[in-house]
Amino acid sequence: MDTRVIQLLMELRKQGIGDTRVLAAMERVPREQFVAEQFLKHAYDNIALPITQGQTISQPYVVAYMTEALKLTDRMKVLEIGTGSGYQTAVLARLSRRVYTIERYRSLLTTAEKRLNELKITNVVTKLGDGNKGWIEQAPFDRILVTAAADTRPDGLIAQLSPNGGIMVAPVAVNTTEQDVIRYTREGDDIREERLLPVRFVPLLPGIAREAAT
Ligand code: SAH
Repeated sequence: MDTRVIQLLMELRKQGIGDTRVLAAMERVPREQFVAEQFLKHAYDNIALPITQGQTISQPYVVAYMTEALKLTDRMKVLEIGTGSGYQTAVLARLSRRVYTIERYRSLLTTAEKRLNELKITNVVTKLGDGNKGWIEQAPFDRILVTAAADTRPDGLIAQLSPNGGIMVAPVAVNTTEQDVIRYTREGDDIREERLLPVRFVPLLPGIAREAAT
């Protein structure tokens, strides 16, 4: 086992991540397989790193924090918006029954799918699309995780959350550069909101991305 992984897990514990299931899941997902070659030496640093298309792989602390905030069990059906590198997807897959993940860049999605296959993670279903619309054919979801920053409360996604204690965790704008992670808990039409952590995510953008042919 890479000693850098142990170091990172100890740091996450120190930062307040207490859920041993989350820490164990992160121990089992090699982050080095989700970062670009030139950042390999920083794969286990507790920082976000650039991926392609101007996007980022989230900071391990933020991945751990948001995953913990979801209160997952292995029976749950989870929707993730913003597949990106696929790292957070892999962590969710280790802790739930099935993960549905949506990304607006085809190239990111293809790379993420390849990595998940290499790790033999088979309980993930991917889709190229606009995550703002959710995944209506598969709704309702027990949990929803948004990994790009929304301008306002994502009501369209809350509508696809289970009405019996469904939880969505999402970064939502405070101003143009800062967001707070918010946890929404749904009971029928009642939506409880908890403001959890200041963060900086790339924005949740509309529509599928146009990409230059490669
Ligand atoms: N969880 C990812 C974070 C990637 S950054 C990781 O750790 O690697 C956020 C991702 O959200 C980007 O890949 C971006 O392209 C994607 N995204 C932004 N808006 C989106 C939308 N409307 N639908 C789907 N994906 C979106």
